[in-house]
Amino acid sequence: MNVLSAIEAKRDGAALSEAQLRAIVDDFTAGRIPDCQMSAFLMAVFFRGLNPDEKRTLTLAMRDSGDVLSFPDDPRPIVDKHSTGGIGDKVSLPLAPLLASLGFRVPMISGRGLGITGGTLDKLESIPGFQTLLPPERIVDLVQSTGCVICGQTDRMIPADKKIYALRDVTATVPSIPLITASILSKKLAENLDALILDAKFGAAAFMKSIDEARELARSIVDLGKECGVNTRAILTDMNTPIGRAAGNWLEVRESVACLESKGPNDLRELTVECAAHLLAQTGKAENLEQARNKAAANLANGAALAKWNEMLEAQGADMDAFQAKLARPEPPVVVRELHSARDGFVTRCDARVLGEVIRDLGGGRLKPDAAIHHDVGVDDLVKPGEKIQCGEVMARIHAVTQAEADVAEEELKQAIEISPEPVECASLICEVVE
Ligand code: URA
Repeated sequence: MNVLSAIEAKRDGAALSEAQLRAIVDDFTAGRIPDCQMSAFLMAVFFRGLNPDEKRTLTLAMRDSGDVLSFPDDPRPIVDKHSTGGIGDKVSLPLAPLLASLGFRVPMISGRGLGITGGTLDKLESIPGFQTLLPPERIVDLVQSTGCVICGQTDRMIPADKKIYALRDVTATVPSIPLITASILSKKLAENLDALILDAKFGAAAFMKSIDEARELARSIVDLGKECGVNTRAILTDMNTPIGRAAGNWLEVRESVACLESKGPNDLRELTVECAAHLLAQTGKAENLEQARNKAAANLANGAALAKWNEMLEAQGADMDAFQAKLARPEPPVVVRELHSARDGFVTRCDARVLGEVIRDLGGGRLKPDAAIHHDVGVDDLVKPGEKIQCGEVMARIHAVTQAEADVAEEELKQAIEISPEPVECASLICEVVE
C-alpha cells in the first residue's frame, strides 16, 4: 500500500478503501509507517472526517491490532460502561461490582488520568497491592469467576489505539469525532461486549463543552456500536459540577466504598444506579427502567455489590488488611486544610474544571502520560450547589503534601466555590438518553 497516496486522497476529501485503512493501522502499529506520515494522515482525517464505512473499518482494524477477549458460553451478558471523563467521576468503581452482583460479566478495561481528568486505574492503584495489569487470559478467568475485573490495556490489547492516541495527543488531533469514536469503540469491541452504556459528559470540565457536541459523539458511538453488534446506549450528563464530594485518587476510592455501603453522595449513587439500570433494560434483564433502577438500588442497599467489590479486590491482589486499615485511619499522611465559608448563603457554583486543576497541581494528576502521581492528595467534604451554608462552616477539605501546596490550592479553590444570598435552580445531572 502506498501510504503517501492514501494521505493525499484523504487530504483531498476522498474516501479510503478497507484495504487502505487496514494497512495504515497495521503498518503504523508494526512501526512500518513513521510518525510524520501518520500525523499527516490523522490531521487529514481531522479536517475531512470519515464516512460511516471508513469509521467502521478504522475501528475494527484498531480492535484487531491485538487480542480480542474470548469468553466461554455463559448466560450472563458481557457489559461495560465508558465515560468520556470528568472530575470526581468514580462511577466505574462501584458500578463494576454492582453489575457483577446483578448477574453480568464485566471486563472493564480502563485508563489513567491525563490533564485534569482522573483515571480509574490511578484510583485503584491507591489500594495497597491492587494489580491493574493483567494478561488477557487472566482477565477472562477473573471475569468468569468473580463477575468483574477492572484493569489496564496491556501491549497485547488494542496496541493501535495506544500508539495512535499518543500521537494524537501531541499533534492536536484529539478532538475529532471519528477518531474518538474509533478509539473508544475499538477498546470496547476488544472486550467482546453484548451491551455498552456510554456516559457522554459535557460542560466546563468535560472534553465536550456543549450538550450538542456530547450528543454528536454519543450518536456516532451508539450507531457504530450497534452496527458492530453491541447493544449501545448513551446518557448525556452535566460535568460543570464534580460528581460526589471527593476528588483525588484515594479519596475517590473511599467515597466509592461509601456508595457501595449505600451511604455515599446522592449524585454518585444516582449515576451508578442509572448506568446499571440502562444495562439491565438493554439486555432484557428488567422490563423497564423503573424496575431496573429498583433492582440496581437494592443491590447497593443489601450489600451484594459491596461483597462483589471485596471479591474483586482480593482476586486482583489487594492487601485487604492494609486496605481496611487505610479506610479506617481518620486522615491520610498528608496536610489536611479546611476551607470555611466567609458568609451565610447558598452554594450556587462548584466549578469542576478549577477543582480538576487544583488536584492536578497538588500532584494527584499528570501532565505527561507516564508521570508519577501522589495518590493521597485531593479534596473532600465538598459542598454541592443548592446547599445552604453558614459563615464559618466547612466548604471543602484540601489534602496536600506540603503547607505551601495547600496554600496555593486554597486560593484556587476559593475561586471555584460561589456562595450567594439566594439559591439558584440546579442543573440536572442526567439530561438526555441517546438510543
Ligand atoms: N478517550 C479515548 O479513549 N479516546 C479518545 O480519543 C478520547 C477519549
